[in-house]
Amino acid sequence: LKADDPVVESQITVCVRKRPLNDKEQRNREVDVITIPSKDRLILHEPKNKVDLTKYLENQQFRFDYVFDHTTTNDVIYKFTAQPLVKTIFEGGMATCFAYGQTGAGKTHTMGGEFKGKHQNFTNGIYGLVARDVFTYLRDPRYRNMNYVVSASFFEIYGKMVFDLLAKKQRLRVLEDGQQVVQVVGLTERVVGSVNDVLELIQKGSLERMCGQTSANTNSSRSHAVFQILIRHPGLKKLQGKFSLIDLAGNERGADTSKSNRQTRIEGADINKSLLALKECIRALGKKGAHCPFRGSKLTQVLRDSFIGEKSRTCMIALISPGVASWEHTLNTLRYADRVKEL
Ligand code: ADP
Ligand code: MG
Repeated sequence: LKADDPVVESQITVCVRKRPLNDKEQRNREVDVITIPSKDRLILHEPKNKVDLTKYLENQQFRFDYVFDHTTTNDVIYKFTAQPLVKTIFEGGMATCFAYGQTGAGKTHTMGGEFKGKHQNFTNGIYGLVARDVFTYLRDPRYRNMNYVVSASFFEIYGKMVFDLLAKKQRLRVLEDGQQVVQVVGLTERVVGSVNDVLELIQKGSLERMCGQTSANTNSSRSHAVFQILIRHPGLKKLQGKFSLIDLAGNERGADTSKSNRQTRIEGADINKSLLALKECIRALGKKGAHCPFRGSKLTQVLRDSFIGEKSRTCMIALISPGVASWEHTLNTLRYADRVKEL
């Protein structure tokens, strides 16, 4: 990948990241069905039933703003996705970055930081890298005298419920006033004075999200995690800009509606609904008169202010597993990402 500096012309950037085959996939001798012929194109090779899997009979081509192969690091992903959007929040706009994809495809690895066993390095995740650059901007002569106040929030959306990841998963209500201003009532917003302050919050919230993951009703693959960095004017508290970073629920949860368990079915339907509403809202971004069904889900409702305004910018990182066993989920992910951008 050439280090030519990315420029944001469009309000929406969509890219795909392919992770390496993991140990289990290698043990099962899974075939890698993804090839990346150039930095913006990707081919999904379709296995045909009862045909030797090494002989691909069909393939599908996709084009995105960027396609990253399995050797790409978080730093590089960041440079082409969220980093160009940091300036947006200093210019009075809203920036949003989504990680979308199947469970296990690399959403949390990308957003939170690379894993070393159970340990996660929060400094190289998109959350931490955005925080680093926000503080770099604050020291810039253009903004140094503005005395902006930086703060952070971290919460989780599970079905119609919202939980504060910086307050022991306290359940919060979402209210909308007459002017359609949406508020998460009582959400913790911590003022931060350094990158380290932010990293501490990221760690705290991430551990909170993971805790109890094995019990049936709190699995991170079924919830959306929303990490936000806000810049406010001193005293006035007026919002200058907000960067929302979202680790979405696994999209396979929404795809499978045949689950026998009633709770699982309801969850799947909720996730599906929120991902569909999200797609429409991103598509509506920057299009005059386009309909943004933000009330269609809690996720789009709480992100409403990020879907309006000409200064808003969004990027989506679609994560895919390369193995043949994930083929169908991968196709779903690629189609979704493709539709987000399509005119
Ligand atoms: P998700 O959040 O989408 O469910 P994770 O981010 O938890 O998936 O990733 C699942 C596993 O795969 C983790 O152990 C993670 O370290 C590993 N992984 C994901 N992406 C990559 C990558 N690009 N390179 C190496 N390992 C990765
Ligand atoms: Mg995850």
